[in-house]
Order: sequence, then C-alpha cells, then structure tokens
Amino acid sequence: MSEEKRDALHPEELSLRIQEIGLKWPVSWDMDYDGITCRVHVQDRTHNIRVDKYTREDPDGRYFHPLHELAHCKLSEEIDPCFSALQCGHEADSDECRRLYLIYVPIDVWVNQERHKHWPEAMRNEQVAVCKEMVQIAKQNSYMFFQPELLLTLALSMAEDFLFDTMVGEQLRRIKNYLPPALHGSVAEIRKAIVDMGQITPCVESLQYYMREFARILSFEELIQVRLEYSARHQCQVVYWKE
Ligand SMILES: [Zn+2]
Repeated sequence: MSEEKRDALHPEELSLRIQEIGLKWPVSWDMDYDGITCRVHVQDRTHNIRVDKYTREDPDGRYFHPLHELAHCKLSEEIDPCFSALQCGHEADSDECRRLYLIYVPIDVWVNQERHKHWPEAMRNEQVAVCKEMVQIAKQNSYMFFQPELLLTLALSMAEDFLFDTMVGEQLRRIKNYLPPALHGSVAEIRKAIVDMGQITPCVESLQYYMREFARILSFEELIQVRLEYSARHQCQVVYWKE
C-alpha cells in the first residue's frame, strides 16, 4: 500500500481493508454514532463498527481510527470476544466505568500491533496527529497530564514509538520536558508496562493480568476488581464487573 493517506471510510476502501486484514465475519457500519467503537456478535458471527461525526470529519482521524476498529474485530475473531470492546455493567458515566475504561486503554498496544502488520503507515499518521495535540496541551497547561486519560495516551505513544519506531521521538521528548516532575515516575512505569505487554502474545489471561496491573499503577486497585467475561445478555458485548 502506498504511503499516501487513503480515506478509509469510503465504502470501496472499507471492503478492501476488510479483505486485507482477513476478517471472516461480515462487518456492518453505523456512521452516526456518539464515539468510535465496535461490537462483536458471537452468535451471529458478525461485527458492527460505529463511527462518530468527529472521525468522519477529521482529516487525520478518518485514516487510522476505522483501521484500528478493524484490528479490534480481527483480534476478537482470533483470540477472544473480549478484544472487541468494553461494556461496563454499571451506569455509563459512573466512576467504576471510567476506571474500567482507563485500565482497558493499554489493550490498544496489541490492537495497533495487529493494524501495523497490515497498514504500517496508519501508526505513523496516528502518532504524528496525537503528538501534535499533546505538544500543544503540554505547552499550554502541562498539569492536564495529571488526568489519567492523557497520561495513558502519552505512555502508549512512548511505548509504541519504542516498539514500532514511529519516528516521533523528538515530539515525545518535548512533551516530557514540559511534564511536571511529579509525573515522571508514573509515565515511566506505565510506558514500561505497555512495552512489556507489546512483547508478549495477547490472550485473555494476560489482558486481565495487565488490567489489574494498571489499576495498581493508577492507585485504584482497592476500588476495582476485574473479571473478564463475554456476555451475550448484555447485547453481546464484553462486560466487566466490580465484584
Ligand atoms: Zn482500541
């Protein structure tokens, strides 16, 4: 595939991409969703990918986000439905859900590794766009990196740059220079855990292990217990409970 960006959301491109990654189950698309995500329906052996307005209109995001979701679908067919998406069993905006989403984020190192096998340019496009945003935030208000969402995004970028040589080292160093010193230890710890994850073969047991590990690093292991389970009852989505 050429280095030039291609509009992954064009219907012809979508079917080509599905063939390239080798999905066996059919994919339906919902182009008017609130957020970008996917679902696997194990009984029907189908996937559903949901795309939001932001991704549809974003000149960068539309080139790599849909491919990321296809890689989730691929891992959910090949490894376990838990690799498709996370659905919390609690109120969507509860603290429990927010914590669960946070510790699920590092799964993306495996998802992006799968995407990278088929479309290496997507990783670089994503890293350039994400780093550009993070440099802006770091320059304007580096204390925003105390938000775990942002801290995880930064650590994931650093880990991916190490694992896949995405050539954004210079931008990452700039961001690091702006970071409050109190965050240096946590970002290094999260980066290391994600690099370790990226070097093992993905499986449900490892995903569960690392979700607990990230809860420990983010200091809420007392508040959360992770149990991975695929639940057909919950609209065939993956559900995690606080026990
Ligand atoms: Zn993802």
